[in-house]
Amino acid sequence: VIEIGTPERSVVTTCAYCGVGCSFKAEMRGDELVRMVPWKDGKANRGHSCVKGRFAWGYANHKDRILNPMIRDSIDEPWREVSWGEALTFAGSRLRALQEKHGKESIGVITSSRCTNEETFLVQKLTRAVFGNNNTDTCARVCHSPTGYGLGQTFGTSAGTQDFDSVEHTDVVIVMGANPTDGHPVFASRLKKRLRQGAKLIVIDPRRIDLVKSPHIRAAHHLALKPGTNVAVVTALAHVIVTEGLFDEAFIRERCDWDEFQDYAEFVADPANSPEAVEGLTGVPAAELRAAARLYARGGNGAIYYGLGVTEHSQGSTTVIGIANLAMLTGNIGRPGVGVNPLRGQNNVQGSCDMGSFPHELPGYRHVKNADVRQIFEDMWNVSISDEPGLRIPNMLDAAVDGTFKGIYIQGEDILQSDPDTKHVSAGLAAMECVIVHDLFLNETANYAHVFLPGSTFLEKDGTFTNAERRINRVRRVMAPRNGYADWEVTQMLANAMGGGWAYTHPAEIMAEIAATTPSFANVTYDLLEERGSVQWPCNDRTPDGSPVMHVDGFVRGKGRFIRTDYVATDEKTGPRFPLLLTTGRILSQYNVGAQTRRTANTVWHGEDRLEIHPHDAEQRGIKDGDWIKLASRSGETSLRAEITDRVAPGVVYTTFHHPGTQANVITTDYSDWATNCPEYKVTAVQVSPSNGP
Ligand code: SF4
Repeated sequence: VIEIGTPERSVVTTCAYCGVGCSFKAEMRGDELVRMVPWKDGKANRGHSCVKGRFAWGYANHKDRILNPMIRDSIDEPWREVSWGEALTFAGSRLRALQEKHGKESIGVITSSRCTNEETFLVQKLTRAVFGNNNTDTCARVCHSPTGYGLGQTFGTSAGTQDFDSVEHTDVVIVMGANPTDGHPVFASRLKKRLRQGAKLIVIDPRRIDLVKSPHIRAAHHLALKPGTNVAVVTALAHVIVTEGLFDEAFIRERCDWDEFQDYAEFVADPANSPEAVEGLTGVPAAELRAAARLYARGGNGAIYYGLGVTEHSQGSTTVIGIANLAMLTGNIGRPGVGVNPLRGQNNVQGSCDMGSFPHELPGYRHVKNADVRQIFEDMWNVSISDEPGLRIPNMLDAAVDGTFKGIYIQGEDILQSDPDTKHVSAGLAAMECVIVHDLFLNETANYAHVFLPGSTFLEKDGTFTNAERRINRVRRVMAPRNGYADWEVTQMLANAMGGGWAYTHPAEIMAEIAATTPSFANVTYDLLEERGSVQWPCNDRTPDGSPVMHVDGFVRGKGRFIRTDYVATDEKTGPRFPLLLTTGRILSQYNVGAQTRRTANTVWHGEDRLEIHPHDAEQRGIKDGDWIKLASRSGETSLRAEITDRVAPGVVYTTFHHPGTQANVITTDYSDWATNCPEYKVTAVQVSPSNGP
């Protein structure tokens, strides 16, 4: 029994876990946080929350937090605690020395989708205005970068089209490559309510997620495709809609490029793209696929929600384009109840992308080649900005191994655990001469660091997060930073150690700079957020109240653009040595690699990852429920316990990746999305065999 006592004050802030962005009242007694209460006026959650946001904030006070800066000359030496001043002088002078010796392009940054908009804006400014290059990337690279590319190419902006309220007007929902019940629980509750009211559901996923069959909910169709065949399924759905005349010609003529539509229609109508032709490839019965296409096209308002099961593939960007094509084909864009909605895994994936943390884009998704846009920032920052796109995370690691990339500042990201091909990541880090890790805990990446800068939790800072519906929510400081400084202050100190001359005194000033340089944020101020609680971008003179639904009268790019979606098989093949396909996902009570959720007192957080395997495959291998198994791929091997279940089909196995012992990324390949390098986490050929444990 925990004695909570009477709170003395409360502060409204935003959950730091998933992209739903729930608002909470943090209740305090003195300087102690005693309880997180879901805020009834929070527009994303309306008084609801899940177990993580409500109970998993204890990591803020965990004994593992590092509170003092540390440095060392080489990674073979022990850490030395030093003052902030000494650490930042050490870091800044090392980075400058590397640039003098190896060139301006020899250093870069990786930022996190868990940092605030203001922090992310400052990190990309550090890169462009102080480092003098565009070597900035974000962990969105490994999750939703294909969303950025696919929706940017088709609609003109890289964001979900709807607010969460929109689901209340939906008649047919497609959930593809996502498991909202576990990944986005508060949104899932609203979705389930609508389904119980009679909306129809189509699930496209290799695994039988809970939504397929749960109390009072039955999916009309579950297209249980083989991992890696998303593009073939999406194109076959379009084939049915086009060849059966189910498309919305009036919408397409008015809102889309008609010539491009005709080329696209000819492509999808090819019999090679029919459900019957791809049935063997995808494993989806043709009749089921045809019925699903008819339901989506004819069933009223149709909305598509998707997750990492769409993006984390070698054809992730193609599938996002295919989803956008489906919405345009059927006129399901630009009003409540329809649209294309990426469910963002981390709290600020949307904001991280909005703030220009990709190496080819300035804030607001504007290419660095655009001289007019560069001029805006050059005038604001009084510097010259490079027009050469910088390096993506995998390119930085490649260049490090090749000896041309020498130093990196990593804010809030454990790339050794979360990026694919662990051996390559560690080789890249080991080859660098200055690795600066800015984090809460001494994570795995810090084993390769020369400087450790203690990070602050979401409870210790002011700022904003932007959730999956483009809603900009305030993050408010609940307690003083235990490490002494909020993350935005640390970035500012590093910039100044390198001659930046920055003098922000509060994140509101950073937001003013974002608004002055980024049209979709033009009217966003902290005063406005205080007044309204939150606002959805674009928020400018054209849409002063924000934009719950996008592309209402026209697409951001003008005419919507249909693009062909040719299916290209992944290079990752099954064969006699590796006959099964591994795919991955999450559970409700854990978050990503568990760095936060595992560091709480409640035992609900202390489980283990298991491998789901079909009874047929388990029996063939002599594996019983709960047995230890060896999971091996061409990249490596690991051990975990088996869970025998028909949630997965024969030939498919599934696991989560929340516990460090699982080392899922030792197994995954280095294949990635053709357009964005997003890793292909969702398709790995594996073998499973009995073992005696780790
Ligand atoms: Fe936090 Fe997401 Fe849970 Fe809401 S649904 S409380 S944002 S983890």
